[in-house]
Amino acid sequence: MQIKCAFCSMPFALSQEQVGQAIELLKKDSHAHYDAHCPKCRHATKLSRKAFELNPIYKKMLAA
Ligand SMILES: [Zn+2]
Repeated sequence: MQIKCAFCSMPFALSQEQVGQAIELLKKDSHAHYDAHCPKCRHATKLSRKAFELNPIYKKMLAA
């Protein structure tokens, strides 16, 4: 999953493993946010459930 750092605008990818962790977190608590750490500036970009639901595959995983 491609995302963009909210601090330095660096585009970076979340691995399937990271996406899996995020989905687990959001399934437990739909108001939770997943912290995606930027490889460049190390800031955490917070990803809400909505950010994952934009992808139909992840949306299905969240609904499962
Ligand atoms: Zn950054």
